[in-house]
Amino acid sequence: MIKLAMFDSKQYDIESFDSLSGEKFKIKYFETKLTEDTAYLAKGYDAVCVFVNDTVDSAVIDVLESLSVKLVALRCAGFNNVNLKYASGKIKVIHVPAYSPEAVAEHAIGMLLTSVRRIHKAYIRSKDFNFSLNGLTGFNLYGKTMGVIGTGKIGKAFVNICKGFGMEVLAYDLYPDESLGIRYTNLEEIFEKSDILSLHCPLTKDNYHLIDSKALSTMKNGIVIINTSRGSLIDAEALLDGIKNRKVGAACLDVYEEESDLFFEDNSGHIVHDDILARLISMPNVLITSHQAFLTKEALGNIAETTLNGIELFFEEGKLVNEVVYNKK
Ligand code: NAD
Repeated sequence: MIKLAMFDSKQYDIESFDSLSGEKFKIKYFETKLTEDTAYLAKGYDAVCVFVNDTVDSAVIDVLESLSVKLVALRCAGFNNVNLKYASGKIKVIHVPAYSPEAVAEHAIGMLLTSVRRIHKAYIRSKDFNFSLNGLTGFNLYGKTMGVIGTGKIGKAFVNICKGFGMEVLAYDLYPDESLGIRYTNLEEIFEKSDILSLHCPLTKDNYHLIDSKALSTMKNGIVIINTSRGSLIDAEALLDGIKNRKVGAACLDVYEEESDLFFEDNSGHIVHDDILARLISMPNVLITSHQAFLTKEALGNIAETTLNGIELFFEEGKLVNEVVYNKK
């Protein structure tokens, strides 16, 4: 039996993993995140399973190694929270490269429609039997120009939905995919011509604050910005300024620069000290979800299946599928 310690476990993780774990696994679900202080909880386990806001830095790796934990299984695609260089030769790392690009693309479109057709406002009004339409005027997506940055798995799914709406799509990617049947161009033209901009590229050291005050100043007045990718692609303070001076018509944010201490948790009874987030939330044209875009039954099932298969193959056959290794470049 493979003993697995899962950190930052939520009810939906427990349900999806329990439904697939069978006789081969004994899983202990810890609510706490993996940190240097909690890593000792992995004592007696063969592997740890972690999510986006767990920490796998050198201190945690030292503890895990001393406890003879052999594998870190990320139940997500990104691995920016793992010190891969330090892990090299000490502990193996696997991840889930893709689980449902459509889940994220559909959430992005859901946020866009909610925002531009004011569905969130109409929902609250009609709950109170307020059937007035004043202030709910939206705009058609048909015929509008959608700028897409990053046309990988999620970006492609998103582009295909936009084409279905009859939108013009302009795209930028380091590696254009000509088979998509859309026009690729540079960032300058995308910023200048888009009515709506959606981010689907990873966060790298080269695109931190890709959307800053300078970029915003070159965009159309009323630009709608969607970010389901990573918070730090947008300078949140510049975005707030853009909203205040009416450059930005609406923002749909599933991710936020400083999300790690807040998102995924119920902070409703707490004083939130992040003034920029508080101000963004107070804006009528900002819609925020807390890193929810991946959260579909299909995606959770794929995450659990890929993670458990990867762990089983490692311990039973010595195979590393979806390994993440340190890239010296
Ligand atoms: P992917 O690797 O399939 O595609 C990423 C694309 O971005 C690639 O085509 C790549 O060439 C391109 N790219 C890389 N750097 C770029 C840059 N500087 N400028 C423009 N394009 C660049 O990844 P994916 O599965 O489509 O995921 C995209 C991003 O979505 C992830 O990096 C992650 O940050 C985010 N994500 C969010 C959620 C969520 O729940 N909100 C879930 C999964 C993924």
